[in-house]
Amino acid sequence: MTQRSAIAHPCLSCGACCAAFRVAFHWSESAPADPGGVPEALTAPVRPHVLAMRGTDARDPHCIALEGVVGQAVHCRIYAARPSPCRELQASYEDGTHSAQCDRARARYGLAPLTPATWTQPM
Ligand code: SF4
Ligand code: SF4
Repeated sequence: MTQRSAIAHPCLSCGACCAAFRVAFHWSESAPADPGGVPEALTAPVRPHVLAMRGTDARDPHCIALEGVVGQAVHCRIYAARPSPCRELQASYEDGTHSAQCDRARARYGLAPLTPATWTQPM
């Protein structure tokens, strides 16, 4: 999930990707290896050297750090310390590129895919 400063950024009324996929990353992105990284209590082991955001390694994933209601109003309570998969997942067309992951997550919650127009017209 990406969030820019504008209040109308579509991620702030979405959050679907934080409740659709397993969010897994190398242990070195978490405390104590990285004191500014993902708080250890919010992680769960997946396999050797790999952690996941707690709640995302489940049949119905929902990240423990996601606050709010998907499709209405959400925010990540560890935004500055979120792991690399969260930093890498771009909202569709935010940088002009289509994101199938964004589309898939939104579809899971009945949300229409973002389009290039999303970024030029107020939502
Ligand atoms: S850490 Fe934050 S951005 Fe990443 S999945 Fe959880 S709520 Fe979403
Ligand atoms: S699914 Fe797409 S629009 Fe929704 S929070 Fe994730 S990146 Fe943003």
